[in-house]
Amino acid sequence: MNEIFGIDLGTTYSCISYVDEYGRPVVVPNAENERITPSVVFFDGDNVIVGDVAKENSKMYPEDVVSFVKRSMGDENFYFEHGGKNYHAEEISSFILRKLISDAENNLGQKINDVVITCPAYFGINEREATKLAGEIAGLNVKAIINEPTAAAVAYGVDYDKDKVVLVYDLGGGTFDVTMIDVKKDSIKVICTGGDHNLGGKDWDDALIAYMAEQYKEITGNDKDILEDPETCQELQLLAERVKKTLSQREKAPISINYEGERAKIEITRQKFNELTYDLLQRTVNLMDDMLKEAAKKNYTSFDEILLVGGSSRMPQVEEIIKNKYNIEPKVFDPDEAVSKGAALYGWKLSVNDELVRRISEETGKDIEDIKKSIDEKSIDENVVEAAAKRVADDTGYTLSAVKASNVKVVNVVSKSFGVVTYNNEEKEVVYNLIIKNSEVPYEFTERFGTREENQENVMIKIVEDELSDKIVDIAYGNEIGEAELVLPENLPKNSPVDITFKLNEEGRLEIKAIEAVEKREISTSIETSSVIKGKDLEEAKERNKNIEVS
Ligand code: AMP
Repeated sequence: MNEIFGIDLGTTYSCISYVDEYGRPVVVPNAENERITPSVVFFDGDNVIVGDVAKENSKMYPEDVVSFVKRSMGDENFYFEHGGKNYHAEEISSFILRKLISDAENNLGQKINDVVITCPAYFGINEREATKLAGEIAGLNVKAIINEPTAAAVAYGVDYDKDKVVLVYDLGGGTFDVTMIDVKKDSIKVICTGGDHNLGGKDWDDALIAYMAEQYKEITGNDKDILEDPETCQELQLLAERVKKTLSQREKAPISINYEGERAKIEITRQKFNELTYDLLQRTVNLMDDMLKEAAKKNYTSFDEILLVGGSSRMPQVEEIIKNKYNIEPKVFDPDEAVSKGAALYGWKLSVNDELVRRISEETGKDIEDIKKSIDEKSIDENVVEAAAKRVADDTGYTLSAVKASNVKVVNVVSKSFGVVTYNNEEKEVVYNLIIKNSEVPYEFTERFGTREENQENVMIKIVEDELSDKIVDIAYGNEIGEAELVLPENLPKNSPVDITFKLNEEGRLEIKAIEAVEKREISTSIETSSVIKGKDLEEAKERNKNIEVS
């Protein structure tokens, strides 16, 4: 039985994998026998169709089709209205998950409960929580949310036994991520991450669409904007993606545009396409340079390899610019499947390693946490591990080497900074960052602040996330994500100490504790994810989901 499945819930395509008895990741094809499924949702009456069929229907029924929903994850203002109901991004994503799961269940003849889902490294708490929620609405037990580049590196690290610093350049359908990772035999550590969640293959398509519309005008002399017609627009979207893919294989591609009985035929060369999209490509390189500067601050001043993942890294322009700029031959690494396979491997390693640790604990009578620590510190008796690994291998059917290799430590960094709103010397509101972006998680930091006034009744702690790496940041850069109130004892003098602790766990959940020094009154809270559906809405979404058939 395959226990945990890895899901790449992509902007344009999604993919599901598991790990076989040899510890190798295997992609499960969907009902259409494709290894990746378009993340496109088509509302067909009361039911929902996901994938290729949905994508095809986007032409005929643009109003019933949702694409690129990942870009709206965690956005409380986004909803898709259909049949008098409003669907949030989490719910729409849950349909994509259900399609992957039910096809995989049918294919493998087993029930799937536990999953690891991936998200871009720069997703903040809300977006991560939204991703987890999508899984829960789909009835899944989400064991972990991990970063896509980390997952790619986990997949890459499988056959690896030489230490290397690797850059993962991940250009997907709607997102761009660039991440530096220190890959060692027994650990995979994210050093730095950067990117833009509004940059991806879709923008290359859009550049091509704009060009096609302009060419249409020029050739036919018809001055109408053909993009104003939703049906034509959808058609051009599909066409643009096809043309783009052709240009990854060939030097030129024919284009035929039909609108209101008039046809424009053109031919586009790869060179022209590269010109049209040069600024987009350059943006990815600039973001990479920004990330490299951050990494240099952590004493990582060079790297050994660049891995290209994400479907859009198949465009030859990506390889070219990297070769020219960094003088290194990038490796195109399983662009469509690496992330999903890495997620499956991660989940699998989690469960096998838990089992291994449990066995060692049984044998030695030692506490589970102590064993984990001594494994990390490499102070554990090898013979004890070997004996326990043999038993796990015998019981599970996994090979001994696979069980022993399960102990890979994944270290992540936080993609945003987190702080509180405080006042500077000029009594102006500023953000004071307690956790700086790219710090290793889990992370905990305490800072002492002082009350502003004598006999202050309470402290309102405004919790903020931002994208900057400085300790003190202009309030304009902060995005408030939560609030907590600490009621103070009476008669405190001005500047009485209040210690605020921020603790961030591996999955990006932020816990906040504030304590005043006199009576030691304290409050603690974990971040209220304001943008995600919750309460009644969530129950309704779960209930509604049960009654909707997804295929
Ligand atoms: P992902 O989100 O990683 O699945 O990447 C999907 C994106 O990759 C979409 O924008 C696709 O159009 C794009 N893509 C897939 N295959 C190719 C290809 N051969 N050439 C160019 N772009 C591609």
